Amino acid sequence: MKILVVNAGSSSLKYQLFDMESGDVLAKGLCERIGIDGAITHKRPGKENYKAEASLGDHKAAIELVLKLLCDPQLGVISGVEEIGAVGHRVAHGGEKIRCSSIIEDKELEYLESIVEINPLHGPPAISGIKACKSVMPNVKHVGVFDTSYYSTMEEKAYIYPIPYELYEKYQIRRYGFHGTSHRYVCAKAMEILGKDDAKIITCHLGNGSSITASIGGKAVDTSMGFTPQEGVPMGTRSGSLDPTVVTYIMKKEGLSPDGMEKLLNSKSGLLGVSGVSSDCRDVLEAQDKGDNRSKLAMDILVHYIKKIIGSYIAEMNGLDALVFTAGIGENDGIVRDMICKDLSYLGIEIDNDINLSCGRGVQTEITKKGSRVRTFAIPTNEEYMIALDTYELVK
Ligand code: ADP
Repeated sequence: MKILVVNAGSSSLKYQLFDMESGDVLAKGLCERIGIDGAITHKRPGKENYKAEASLGDHKAAIELVLKLLCDPQLGVISGVEEIGAVGHRVAHGGEKIRCSSIIEDKELEYLESIVEINPLHGPPAISGIKACKSVMPNVKHVGVFDTSYYSTMEEKAYIYPIPYELYEKYQIRRYGFHGTSHRYVCAKAMEILGKDDAKIITCHLGNGSSITASIGGKAVDTSMGFTPQEGVPMGTRSGSLDPTVVTYIMKKEGLSPDGMEKLLNSKSGLLGVSGVSSDCRDVLEAQDKGDNRSKLAMDILVHYIKKIIGSYIAEMNGLDALVFTAGIGENDGIVRDMICKDLSYLGIEIDNDINLSCGRGVQTEITKKGSRVRTFAIPTNEEYMIALDTYELVK
């Protein structure tokens, strides 16, 4: 069966077509500047990329163009849309009710619309993407794979905030967690390697957005992101967790509205905010190497918070079998992995820095030092494959 995976953003739509028998990606690409003017990049393994400008007024126009290219006699990989057995959609937020990957019918769409208020950034484009795909491909099943669903196993003590309980009941203010599909994928990979059903694993998804998750036996027990992806460790442009009074104090002092304050915390903080150089870890490390003190401070803060979360999760699980790094920084940046793992030997984490610094970028590698109690890995994430797999399992 062939499964099309779709990830719709506010002005973009990413796609990958999988052949589930072989696991191969037949084609993938990106529609950009949807609703502005429009452009598409369409890739097939071993073939030259196709790039073109196109008028993409909305997500429907984008998916129509994607299907046209997938079926094109020269640029395509299938002979007709009927070859697509199902569509898997990446959806960031499933709220409290959607707790696992699910076929999306009207009831599910209505529920997703009802929780847009707690998911204002990612909800509307995801819904618009699903509706567009359903209208263009009405005869196949559409499956939603939710970033939040991996956290449905978390206990109340891990997801209820210590604020008046009525606010949770009234507004569904609780910790949801994000990046769940990525954590689920790399955790499963580590479990395969360890061959231990009840393995205690900490997965560090460190990219532009970063989150850390603790899992026992492939089930999440805690995660660093909360009500929104703003909680947890500092990120490219997000602050991560703060004393809440810092927020109200800045609002009063700077005369900021709630929206203005959210913007400051979401897009002007983190690595960018402290370094003043860039949100990109590579740029900040380069500036640090050239002697820029604030870039060094930004990296030190990032590593400091990540270490604190790792330590707290070991306490929470009463042990650790494996530590896993994934996403842009986690998969590729041996220097940051070294900074994080340094001086964690008391907790049983020791890495072989020769392997760590020389391991291929984006290649699954064990970087454990001989004799270390805890095993450490860099494992490339593959959320799209996980979405395709869930979709396949649900429809086959
Ligand atoms: P997103 O959260 O947008 O998916 P990514 O997972 O692509 O982000 O991660 C982006 C971060 O990963 C950036 O800070 C970037 O510096 C870092 N990164 C990406 N590729 C590399 C690389 N080859 N070496 C070091 N860092 C990298």
